[in-house]
Amino acid sequence: MTERKKINIAKPSFLGNEKKYLVDTIDSGWISSIGPYIEKFEVEFARYHGVKHAVATHNGTIALHLALVAAGITSGDEVVVPDFTFVATANSVRYCNARPILADVERDDWNLSPEAVAANITSKTKAIIPVHLYGNPARMNELRAIAKQYDLIIIEDCAEALGAIYQGERVGTMGDIGCFSFFGNKIITTGEGGMCITNNDVLAERMRILRDHGMNRSKKYWYDLLGFNYRMTNMQAAVGLAQLEQIDGLLKTRDDIYRTYENAFSSCKKIVLQENHHQQSVNWIFTLRMQGVSEEQRDAVMADLKAQNIDSRPVFYPIHQMDFYQNGDFFRSIPENSKLISREGISLPTFIGLDHGDINFIAETLIESLGNQR
Ligand SMILES: *Cc1c(COP(=O)(O)O)cnc(C)c1O
Repeated sequence: MTERKKINIAKPSFLGNEKKYLVDTIDSGWISSIGPYIEKFEVEFARYHGVKHAVATHNGTIALHLALVAAGITSGDEVVVPDFTFVATANSVRYCNARPILADVERDDWNLSPEAVAANITSKTKAIIPVHLYGNPARMNELRAIAKQYDLIIIEDCAEALGAIYQGERVGTMGDIGCFSFFGNKIITTGEGGMCITNNDVLAERMRILRDHGMNRSKKYWYDLLGFNYRMTNMQAAVGLAQLEQIDGLLKTRDDIYRTYENAFSSCKKIVLQENHHQQSVNWIFTLRMQGVSEEQRDAVMADLKAQNIDSRPVFYPIHQMDFYQNGDFFRSIPENSKLISREGISLPTFIGLDHGDINFIAETLIESLGNQR
């Protein structure tokens, strides 16, 4: 029997000007964090979102940290974050010596529950970080209403959702600051990279100063603030600009992949997808719930996929279960939906170049394995 070719979980695609722009940075010598591609990438990223400012950073995690520091989050403050997300969302709050409060997510859309947020508001609450998980927009209308009522800052974690639209508004433009990641498996990549977008002139200026060691913008080597080196390099930005030029096509191809998966799984009643409330989600990594499975059964399905050379991933584990989130007072009730989705969830290969035959084979293999679980 010939072994089937390996199907990876994710793969970047460089089909545009990536190489050309990158070589240009090397030829010009501008490889570090000064150079024309940084501003070009920021300008185009801001234009794509219809916002005034885009501030590029070295990765998505520090984009979140930069946004929180610029927004004044500090020790003693509480920031409500979803319990079911990539760990960086919560960690970025701890880097400010503030306290992330892990709130439950909705069972249908897997995103921050407005009800759980409301239940976790105290006199110390300063901000909320909705995450548009797997490219699916969170319930921003309800979250914005709560933020308005309690005068809270909203920082959107859009790391997985570049290009998604919620009731006509792009994700990242609905709060005070929107944060993005350009890690190798994200919608567009710069290797490592991140971005903060905002319409607020003061926040934008503060982020620009903070990412450059807190240095005064007109007096070299004079520092007004305790800052960081969070800058993006010209090499990263060169790749990012080329990727952004292709964004519409990239999103469309990912959409086609979603629909092919959706079709292939439509006959299997045990499989539940993330509800998107008719928003324009983007397909970051196709992810589903296998209703009623235990974690062991989920892992057994992943092993069966692996035996067919198909790479898959468990979804995120609930953050409240991590050792370093157990001791402090990081949650006030057990986030039950987070636990449920975490146990039943699995992410499947999603990348440009994955063909319909691969997708159908993946779906058949998964459905068969699921049927064999006892
Ligand atoms: C990827 C990701 C981040 C962090 O991005 P990095 O660029 O890898 O640091 C933050 N939040 C979420 C939800 C992510 O998926």
